[in-house]
Amino acid sequence: MTRVFKFAISFAVLFACLATTAFAQEKLRAVIIDGQNNHDWKNTTPRLVKILESCGRFEVDVATTPPQGEDVSGFTVDFSKYDVVVMNYNGARWNPELEKAFVKYIVDGGGLVSYHAGNNAFTDWPAYNEMIALGGWGGRNHDSGPYLYLDNDGNVVIDAVQEGPSGDHGPQWAFPIDVRAPEHPIMKGLPLRFRHCQDELYQYQRGPAHNVTVLASAFAPQDKRGSNRNEPLILTVPYGKGRCVNNMLAHGPESLTAVDSILLLQRCAEWAATGEVTIPVPDNFPGEDDPVFNESLFK
Ligand code: ZN
Repeated sequence: MTRVFKFAISFAVLFACLATTAFAQEKLRAVIIDGQNNHDWKNTTPRLVKILESCGRFEVDVATTPPQGEDVSGFTVDFSKYDVVVMNYNGARWNPELEKAFVKYIVDGGGLVSYHAGNNAFTDWPAYNEMIALGGWGGRNHDSGPYLYLDNDGNVVIDAVQEGPSGDHGPQWAFPIDVRAPEHPIMKGLPLRFRHCQDELYQYQRGPAHNVTVLASAFAPQDKRGSNRNEPLILTVPYGKGRCVNNMLAHGPESLTAVDSILLLQRCAEWAATGEVTIPVPDNFPGEDDPVFNESLFK
């Protein structure tokens, strides 16, 4: 074998190794935190894992705290391993070191997706409330921050005057969702209005509401015990160098089978992790009239 030929082979092998490594590194690392929630986390977390892994973009770990009422001080997550943290958690405060590590992780450029009742958590943790911007329940009230909604022209209204509790929804129904930031990577290519599945429509959320970009809202009509307002349902918040998304959709396992729930969670997670979205809109994405489901994903 000539020296030149040997060199060519070594180079080819080296290149192949580098290419393989680069390919392996393309998957984003996500961790879902659960273990305490007034929602069915035992059945939603496996679906969230499936949703994220099935698009080929993520490798997913799950970090489960001890159950409600038990000591969570030993619970820990090495956030530095992850591109995005998905909160399927609505429970006890973590130990101070872990909370500090989480804030540092986001400030340094980490990603957060608060899923549904993730924004019910941690009423008395100021940094977390800054990240989610709006939350509900957990004793939140006027002191937690203003209400935020959209007027008939789609302008954001921040109401710091009105008294009242935070967090409410009427009976579940299949409401239409309005895209409010069509050029945002998470929403790009979606129809401006599409039919979500039967789900809770969160309303009267309160929080610090700083630097909020509302990506999607839905009108909560009074005949569905609604606020008579356009309620924000997906929003983004910068925190330090980090990207936070508060996605209030999909109360239970059934609502996670909706095609829009699936895509929006994938895209929220990808954007929170990277600031970009590469996951395409599927051909069967719902239009204005009927929800569309992908139950086979979970079989
Ligand atoms: Zn719920």
